[in-house]
Amino acid sequence: MSEHDNFLISLSVLYRNTQKYFDRVLSRYDIGSGQLIFLLLIYEHDGITMQEVTRLSEVDKGTTTKSISRLIEQGYVEARVDEKDRRVRRLHTTGKSADIMRDIYEYRARCRRILARDTDFAGFEETLAKVTDNSRMGLSEKSALEGLRIGALTKLTMTDVPGKAACRIDFAGCCFRCPWCFRKDMVFLSERRTSVDPEDVLAFLEKRRGILDAVCISGGEPLMQEDLFPLLENIRSQGYAVHLETCGYEPEKLEELLQKGLADFVAMDVKNCRERYAETAGVHAGSIDLSRIERSLQILAAADIPYELRTTVMKEFHDEGSLCALARELPANAVWVLQNYKDSETVIQPGYTPFAQEELEQLCRKLRELVPACSVRS
Ligand code: SF4
Repeated sequence: MSEHDNFLISLSVLYRNTQKYFDRVLSRYDIGSGQLIFLLLIYEHDGITMQEVTRLSEVDKGTTTKSISRLIEQGYVEARVDEKDRRVRRLHTTGKSADIMRDIYEYRARCRRILARDTDFAGFEETLAKVTDNSRMGLSEKSALEGLRIGALTKLTMTDVPGKAACRIDFAGCCFRCPWCFRKDMVFLSERRTSVDPEDVLAFLEKRRGILDAVCISGGEPLMQEDLFPLLENIRSQGYAVHLETCGYEPEKLEELLQKGLADFVAMDVKNCRERYAETAGVHAGSIDLSRIERSLQILAAADIPYELRTTVMKEFHDEGSLCALARELPANAVWVLQNYKDSETVIQPGYTPFAQEELEQLCRKLRELVPACSVRS
């Protein structure tokens, strides 16, 4: 990873180096970098109140009060009672501040010159102002759908929900790292990935009412998403059918979702038999609790909506022995679909070996002795 791929590190380096610079140059006045913005605000807004400083600086009240109290103790600022309203105290800089302001402005200009070297600094400042605005609007308060991480919206799919025109929402993030997974982009999340705003998804669905019939909820693992239910409630209220794809590792969420009637169909991955589950899911055996998968299977078996189980098969992880062992762990009346592995650039670890079609059909015939509704999906 290049250091430029991590804007949080860049932001932190910029902030700390700027702070260090002002701490150093202002040390002769016994002023810290944290006090600087308050001193400047009071100097440039003579008679400002503490509340106004808090609002303009966007720093919390406690920090503002502490920093300004220190400036008062040091003799740079004084607080005077407003003559027209004696309940109000107004802040003024003193002669001691006036003596050093020219130096402070020069240090600030020098800082700006240094940062601007070999850059389009005016363009940067313009962008920074927009980014700061975005942070005010998007980061300062929690929205109802803030817990959602939508990695992609496919606006039309005719294959994800059989017989229906649907869109697909892929949620970013997964509890597993199946090495054969073809949604690497939804498992390892690049900092530069484009994410989709849930409000844009809802606006899109509003516009497509009567054109699309269903929404496929996939990922990644959708049930890991904090605010999934409010989103699904909204989707349902717009009249869409919901088709959920899950790895079954969040049984409580699955149960609650079904109780709330938030899905019409569930497709759950079953990776392999118990002995080989962890390696097929790309995690350490000690870090997976298979009782959660079993619980999800029980929940689906008792559900009053249709469901299917899916296993993506490849020679490195599956053979007759492992698949028969898996079949014995599934509800006998389950609809179970075998999907052959397909190699591609988007697989987490490409290079696995699919079964020959005939070989897979033959395996499927054998598995039908244990789970009659087993089939191969090409
Ligand atoms: S296959 Fe499913 S469960 Fe496995 S890593 Fe990919 S998204 Fe996660």
